[in-house]
This record gives sequence, C-alpha cells and structure tokens, in this order.
Amino acid sequence: MTQTTLEVLKNYIGGKWVEAKTDKTEPVINPATGEVIAHVPVSSKEDLDYAVEVADEAFQTWKDLAVPRRARILFKYQQLLVENWEELAEIITLENGKNLAEARGEVQRGIENVEFAAGAPSLMMGEQLSTIATDLEGAVYHYPIGVVGGITPFNFPMMVPCWMFPMAIVTGNTFVLKPSERTPLLANRLAELLEEAGVPEGVFNIVHGAHDVVNGLLDHEKVEAISFVGSQPVAEYVYKRGTSNLKRVQALAGAKNHSIVLDDANLDNATTQIMNAAFGSAGERCMAASVVAVEDSVADEFIELLAKKTNEINIGDGQVEGNFLGPVIREGHKERTLEYVETGEKEGATMVRDGRDDEEVKESGYFVGPTIFDNVTSEMKIWQDEIFAPVLSIARVKDLDEAVNLANKSKFANGACIFTKDGGKVRRFRETIDSGMLGVNIGVPAPMAMFPFSGWKDSFYGDLHANGKDGLNFYTRKKVVTTKWV
Ligand code: NAD
Repeated sequence: MTQTTLEVLKNYIGGKWVEAKTDKTEPVINPATGEVIAHVPVSSKEDLDYAVEVADEAFQTWKDLAVPRRARILFKYQQLLVENWEELAEIITLENGKNLAEARGEVQRGIENVEFAAGAPSLMMGEQLSTIATDLEGAVYHYPIGVVGGITPFNFPMMVPCWMFPMAIVTGNTFVLKPSERTPLLANRLAELLEEAGVPEGVFNIVHGAHDVVNGLLDHEKVEAISFVGSQPVAEYVYKRGTSNLKRVQALAGAKNHSIVLDDANLDNATTQIMNAAFGSAGERCMAASVVAVEDSVADEFIELLAKKTNEINIGDGQVEGNFLGPVIREGHKERTLEYVETGEKEGATMVRDGRDDEEVKESGYFVGPTIFDNVTSEMKIWQDEIFAPVLSIARVKDLDEAVNLANKSKFANGACIFTKDGGKVRRFRETIDSGMLGVNIGVPAPMAMFPFSGWKDSFYGDLHANGKDGLNFYTRKKVVTTKWV
C-alpha cells in the first residue's frame, strides 16, 4: 500500500481533528506482519505551540468547573471505555503486537485509572485545623496547576496515557499528549471517547510527532508540568531540560528487574510466574523479569522446569487467540535483540534456550523466540542493559544476601520479586533491596491506580511518582489559609 491510500493521522486540538503543519510522516506498522497500517505526522513546533495556546485558554474556565462535574465526565468516560473494551484491545494488539489477552488486561488497567481519578471530589479535599492558636484556624486547599504535557512510550499505548490525563484533567488542568509515534492509533480513539463523554474543547489535546513536539513541550512557558514515561536516556534528558525550564517533571524510565528464587520456593509457581513476566508482551514491559538469581541448590531443577514450560509457548500474531508471544515493536529492535543474544554467547553465558531457532523468527513479523541464558554475571552486557525483549538471564547464587547484593549493583531499580515461603527472608528482602516495586511469589508487581508507581535510582527522575496520591499531588498545588475571625 502506498502512503496515499492510507490514513495520515490528525492531531486533536481544541476539540477538532486538525492536519499537522508538516510534510514529514512516519509509518505506523503492524509488528506482527510488517505491514504499514497508517502514517503518523511528525508535527512541528508550530503545531505544538497552537495546542498549548488552546489548552491554556481552556484552562481559564475548566479550572473553575465544580470538581464533581469534572468527575461526572470521567464516570461517563469509564462507561464508554468499558463498552469499547474489545475494540480498544484490538487496536493495542494491532499497533503494539502484544496478545489480545494482555491487551484486554492493559485496557482494564487504564479503566482503573479513570475510576480512581473519578474519586477527585474526595481526593482533592483539603484539611483544616480548627485551632492553630487562640481564635486562629488553618486550612489547606488544592488547586490545578495549568497546562500539563504528557509524553508516552510505545509499550502501553492505553495504560500509560491513562496514568496521566484522567487525574490531570479531573483536578482541573488541561492536557497536551504526545503519544509514541510507533503506537499512535489508540490515543486518537481515547480522544474520540473523551469527547463523547463530554469533555469541553481544549481540555485534552493530542499532538503527534517526535523530538520537536517533546522539546516544544519542555520549553513552552505556558506548560507547567511534564509527565514522561520512556527509556532511561530520554527520561534523564526530559527531566534535566524540563526542570532547567523550572517546570515540574516526573520522568519514569527504563528497568532491569530482578527476581530471586530461594530453595524453599514453590518451583511450579515460580517458573510459571517468571516465564510470564519475562516473555509476556515480548519482554517489552518496564516490569518484565530480566534477571533471575536462583539459589544453587535448586538451580538445575528450576531451569529444567522453566525451559520445559517455555518450549510450550505459542509464538505468533497476538490477534490469534492462543498465541502468547507476539513480535517486538520494529525490525530494528529485533536486530538489536539478536545482537544482544550474540553478545551473551561471546561473553560466556550458557545458552539454555535459543530464541533464534524458532521458525517464526524467519517470518515477516518482528518475532524473537524466548531466549534463556544461564551462568550470567554482572560483568556481562546482557546483565547490565535493558534489552526490552524476550531474553532472560539466570545467575546462580549461594543465598539471599548474594542475590540482593547482585540486584543492587544494577543502576536500574524499578521492580524486584522474591519466591520463597520464608516470611523472615521476605522481610530481609524488603528491607535490603534497592527497588521501588516489590513482588512476593508473583512475577510482575503490576502498577495499580491507587498506589504510586515507585521506581528508584535510574528508573525514575523526580519526586512525585505517577498514580495514587502522588499523582494527585503532582497535578495540584496548595493554598494554606490562616484565618482569625474578628
Ligand atoms: P522512548 O524513550 O524511545 O520513547 C518515549 C517517548 O519519548 C516517545 O514519545 C518518543 O517519541 C520520545 N522520544 C524518544 N527519543 C526522544 C528524544 N531523543 N528526544 C525527545 N523525545 C524522544 O521509549 P520507548 O521505546 O517508546 O518505550 C520503552 C521504554 O519505556 C523502556 O525503556 C521501558 O522500560 C520504559 N518504560 C518505563 C515505564 C516505567 O514506568 N518506568 C513504563 C513503560 C515503559
């Protein structure tokens, strides 16, 4: 198909679908087939400036709308998302490649964020102290901050934008979203449904594109805050540039998540959980299991069972029910992953399962079979780098302390999991691991709307995380009023 027969996506600004002022476009590709399914405009700074002006104008009235009325729009939005659940999941699978069951789960996570944000009338309540001195009382009130920019990654086209804009707009801000140029389709559907839910013009806007739009948001004087989710180098860049322009920035970054399997663990559960956590969504999850530190005494048994279960995985187009492992996002990412597999071999890791041998790797989609290395050490690149693909490294350790010390050497600290029945060891793990999202006998401590998504070290830059009360506080500022009644 040529570009002329395919849709060039429009930006959504001021409640209208508008053409970007640019000739530059990028193809949107179904990664399971390599087929071009649309084109996304690489919008200009002019497009972004226009969206920010429109959002700023909308802010002047939206901020004063009663909080329960803003919340009511989100209740309607929640209904519409539920009604369109399957269609939303299908769009995610089409543009991202994850299987339909995972896509349905992602829609659920997004809906939960809308449900949490719809609690704004209670969440935004302030606090009072009736007597701070004789005849003197104090109170704190929450207010929105203005225009917020959101920059999102390809791997969760629904969930990650939903970490941001529902809470941002329900608290009275207006929003400009720059979705990933690799998965831009779902964002437009989210906007259509938000319009149907009754959100006024200019409150939520989308500007598609890449660096110019990101830089435009980071530099625009009318943008008060930036929520970013993506890879570590870009997160660091966004945080530094945004804060040097005196904006609030929360930048959620990359990961290399460790799981620890102790000798008393239920190995059937541990292998199932770790297999899903390592190879689900083709390893393209910021909470994916990337390294397993397993106690020597059970290592052979663990690896044998894990390899057996991994061999039963169905690889293929995520649109076909029953396929578990879909493609990675692009040809370039597949090539980079295969280079990492070669590097792992050269570095001396032991190949347990070679994903290059799977038949689907030769197909036109960007498939990489599940790959498992044993005897991986912290000196190896496959241990250090976020590969973001279905490649799992196993390190053998003598005990819990060695496992925790190993995990703590990583510059990343998004998530960590332990598999054991020993409560004392769970406690020691909790107290000594440098990581912000912990799992006990589960593979993925998935982010939930009511808790902050709490990465540490180079997995997060900022103070207030996404989600939970952190999210509310990030998108609001306070007035403290001291009153003497005379
Ligand atoms: P990415 O960093 O390539 O892109 C993220 C966003 O930044 C996109 O909108 C992109 O257009 C923009 N961008 C990319 N390069 C840029 C540059 N040089 N200048 C300005 N903007 C730029 O990330 P990705 O590949 O889309 O997503 C995968 C990454 O996101 C992984 O590293 C993953 O761990 C991370 N992630 C983290 C979390 C978390 O909660 N910590 C959640 C999801 C994904």
